[in-house]
Amino acid sequence: MSVVVAKFGGTSVANPERIRSVAQRIVSRKRAGDSVVAVVSAMGKTTDDLVALASSISDAPDPREMDTLLSTGEMVSMSLLAMAVAELGEEAISLSGRQIGLITDSVHGKASIREIHADRIRVALSAGRIVIVAGFQGIDAAGDITTLGRGGSDTTAVAIAAGIKADVCEIYTDVAGVYTADPRIVPRACKIDQISYEEMLEMAAGGAGVLHKRCIEFARNFGVTIHCRSSFSDEAGTLVKEYDPTMEKAIVSGVAHDLSEAKFTIRDVPDTTGVAAKVFGAMADANLGVDMIIQNLSENGHTDITFTSPKADIERTTEVMNRIVRELGARELLITGEVAKVSIIGAGMKVNSGVAAQMFTTLAEGGINISMISTSDIRTSVVIPAESAEEAVRLLHTAFGLDGAKVFEETQLSAEELAAKANKGR
Ligand code: ADP
Ligand code: ASP
Ligand code: MG
Repeated sequence: MSVVVAKFGGTSVANPERIRSVAQRIVSRKRAGDSVVAVVSAMGKTTDDLVALASSISDAPDPREMDTLLSTGEMVSMSLLAMAVAELGEEAISLSGRQIGLITDSVHGKASIREIHADRIRVALSAGRIVIVAGFQGIDAAGDITTLGRGGSDTTAVAIAAGIKADVCEIYTDVAGVYTADPRIVPRACKIDQISYEEMLEMAAGGAGVLHKRCIEFARNFGVTIHCRSSFSDEAGTLVKEYDPTMEKAIVSGVAHDLSEAKFTIRDVPDTTGVAAKVFGAMADANLGVDMIIQNLSENGHTDITFTSPKADIERTTEVMNRIVRELGARELLITGEVAKVSIIGAGMKVNSGVAAQMFTTLAEGGINISMISTSDIRTSVVIPAESAEEAVRLLHTAFGLDGAKVFEETQLSAEELAAKANKGR
């Protein structure tokens, strides 16, 4: 008998028929002798619709109210799934973030999990029930509802798996697992059978939205094995776990792209001690994330600082940086949202110095201009014009020998669902 946490994404619970099929899956699991906790996302594009609804009322909705609003999406799907399980003759109980004691900090919209009091889940499991939990939500110390950031239900699932010491955390989604690139952009992308936490973290940081970045951090910190797989088939997906020698040692194991960031440049800032500390200190104080950073060579005592940061926070970042530009006496602030980050990831890069050069050559031959570069041990990322992102991913996928023989085929999603997915991250 195993303890299983199974998370179902928005597409997997998009309509009553799919909810019934998820119910069938978890009931079969329970009847095979496992203890099952299901974590659900909001149905289909409910969260996007709620965001749009809020924008129709206010240009700058209060973050606390926004979280309360967004948390309702997952409440709908958890109750419907519990009803569907009951229809199949098993006992189920649905629980919200508050009811499972998922405590977060108070950073509305991107809260971090502090602790989980999983007693209620344990008690329900021992009573033989299937437990269904609303993903993506928690409460802060004041008892206010928080959300974990878009895609955050994955993190709820892994945190619960860690909290109840589950044997595995299965993340059911609308593709067969983690691929060498988004299969909807690169149809010859290959499913990866197993991948280390380290590489998966870099893939997610590079924008591979199939798993939420923080869920992988949690999994690594608590030793939770993730099995990312399709909710439309029984075929095995991708295991995300500690590195082991049986894992394939490709120099480059994946290509990722990210359209969710904007680029900010502070022009002609006086090049004196503490300038970078001031710029990035102000971002940190405002809870604003920063990804890539470049500071140019100083000329006549002045320099340019460029960084990327989530487009979702573009207004607040602009506000904070306008203040900093004034305080530092810099010339101006330039902002563009039309950028993409494209990354190649692979543990083999540690010992293979020619990889970055090959990446830049491939992009140059494709006529794609690079405006920023950053590297880690196992990742090289570039910032390029947004319009070239998909082309760049395809060129790199081919250049690094990742194209497979099998072509990805869309079998389940409607044209409307595909359009909604294509808009994600823009
Ligand atoms: P869910 O709603 O189930 O959480 P997501 O949309 O968050 O689903 O994640 C699944 C999507 O991630 C896929 O439909 C796919 O288009 C996209 N994706 C991006 N990069 C990858 C990758 N490397 N491997 C698999 N899927 C990827
Ligand atoms: N419903 C939320 C979102 O769309 C959380 C999730 O699906 O993981 O981002
Ligand atoms: Mg997701």
